[in-house]
Amino acid sequence: MQVLRSKRAGFCMGVALALSKLDDLVSKGGHVATFGPIIHNPFVLTEYAMKGVRCFKTVQDVKDSLEPFYAFSETLGTHGSPVAEEKKPFMNVLVRAHGIPRETESFLRGLSHVLLNDATCPRVKDAQNAINDATKAMPLESGGMGKAKTLLLYGDVNHPEVDGLVSYACGRYIVSSDIEKIVSYAQKHDSEHMVLAAQTTQDRPRFDILKERLLASACNVQVLETICDATRLRQEEALELASKAQAMVVIGGKESGNTKRLAEIVFSQNIPTVLVENAEELHREFFKGIKVVGVTAGASTPKCLVDEAEKILSSW
Ligand code: SF4
Repeated sequence: MQVLRSKRAGFCMGVALALSKLDDLVSKGGHVATFGPIIHNPFVLTEYAMKGVRCFKTVQDVKDSLEPFYAFSETLGTHGSPVAEEKKPFMNVLVRAHGIPRETESFLRGLSHVLLNDATCPRVKDAQNAINDATKAMPLESGGMGKAKTLLLYGDVNHPEVDGLVSYACGRYIVSSDIEKIVSYAQKHDSEHMVLAAQTTQDRPRFDILKERLLASACNVQVLETICDATRLRQEEALELASKAQAMVVIGGKESGNTKRLAEIVFSQNIPTVLVENAEELHREFFKGIKVVGVTAGASTPKCLVDEAEKILSSW
């Protein structure tokens, strides 16, 4: 089979940065953990687990893991003295590329024995800050209502990045990946000042439809452009490949939102599409009669997994 491989398949800038920060911490030794999975790829997560990197899901998990640190500090005695502080054991906790809620971050920063390292992707950070600035209350004298604006967030409910983004909203917020729901909320609350933003990995054409619907209505909505270009360009390139190939392979973690969306977008072109985590999940029967196959991968997929899939597909 001829394989058309996406040039943008694999780690995006935010994931590459987060992993290089984690590698740096691991190379220095000591206790290292991430808050939430560093990325949504089981292959990468297993590799780090084998290097001793722990993954905490909740703040309670972090607190529980610190018990031995507290006990050890007590054995040093003289709590708070410069000598004891110097010998104090600590755990490096890395914030993942998706970011975390603002309250969680301040809580973790306040924990003794924790050194918080931030690997939030710069684009996610920009989206958090933009939401914070845009939803602040406008003073009455400058034409505002003296009330914080409502955030309309186009994104997946319960996605870790979304949990982080909404924590930066200064007022009320709603989250949905359903255009109709957001439009209907905005129309029912047309006297409110609102801010529309999106999870960075959402599909841009759909967000544009939502934006146009809201701007065409009489709603008072300010739009923030928070969708990441890396996602848009990867999606556009996948569509281009799909127009040239007879089947498509999307490689990435099945828990990865951007990988699943990539597969959905390709599949919507009525082309046989398969989503796999690695080359072992490829089945030859699926490609019967196919001469040209396109290969793309999510933002959290390591290059070696794409290389492997390409090798197998070209040998068929
Ligand atoms: S997809 Fe974009 S926003 Fe998300 S981690 Fe990658 S570079 Fe950052």
